[in-house]
Amino acid sequence: MSQEPPEKMMFQLSLRRRGISDQTILRTMEEVPRELFVTDADRGHAYRDSALGIACGQTISQPFVVAYMTEQLQLQKQHRVLEIGTGSGYQAAVLSRLCRHVLTIERYRTLADSARSRLEKLGYDNIEVLLGDGFDIPAGGGDFDRIIVTAAMEQIPEKLQARLEPGGIVIAPVGPHQGVQTLTRVTRTEAGFDRKSLVDVRFVPALPGIAREL
Ligand code: SAH
Repeated sequence: MSQEPPEKMMFQLSLRRRGISDQTILRTMEEVPRELFVTDADRGHAYRDSALGIACGQTISQPFVVAYMTEQLQLQKQHRVLEIGTGSGYQAAVLSRLCRHVLTIERYRTLADSARSRLEKLGYDNIEVLLGDGFDIPAGGGDFDRIIVTAAMEQIPEKLQARLEPGGIVIAPVGPHQGVQTLTRVTRTEAGFDRKSLVDVRFVPALPGIAREL
């Protein structure tokens, strides 16, 4: 008999009901302790399928969207992944269980520092958290098999697509900063870039530069 707390069983069920069928992803979502990525005040709501506020006016994404984006990335064990928008570090933690290495970039020092120490404490040792601007990825360090953007971009910069390995995939919410965006998947093919619109989503905006904090 499973000893799982009821809220975790409901969590699994709601992800399945919404169409997440990849067993490995479902298991990973169950294993990553979302209650340790949200604020103390929200601990009791960690397994609801909703986005929650974190520091610096940002949000930890809704679990369904985390699972869906992860599924659409079609990760393989040997992949190197770039995430733009570390936030709490939750999406990075989920990704890290399914690939070789995650580089995640965040423009708020407060968020980058707290995600880094949280991930270290929890033993996620294949994630590097970098304070930086996802619109200006440091050159060098090679290209990525997968890129996931977890903040809304008006368009996917060509410079970012250019950092994909052949066969690589980028997933990003594309659209206006205020309002609804479309989750968009771009695949690098031999001929160029294939683009597919997935579902409508709502993310906080991707903004240029390191954030100024008080
Ligand atoms: N993936 C996160 C949620 C991200 S919220 C999680 O699992 O918790 C979006 C994050 O993107 C915010 O923290 C925001 O500060 C960050 N962000 C916005 N624009 C950015 C940019 N240009 N470079 C890096 N991070 C950015």
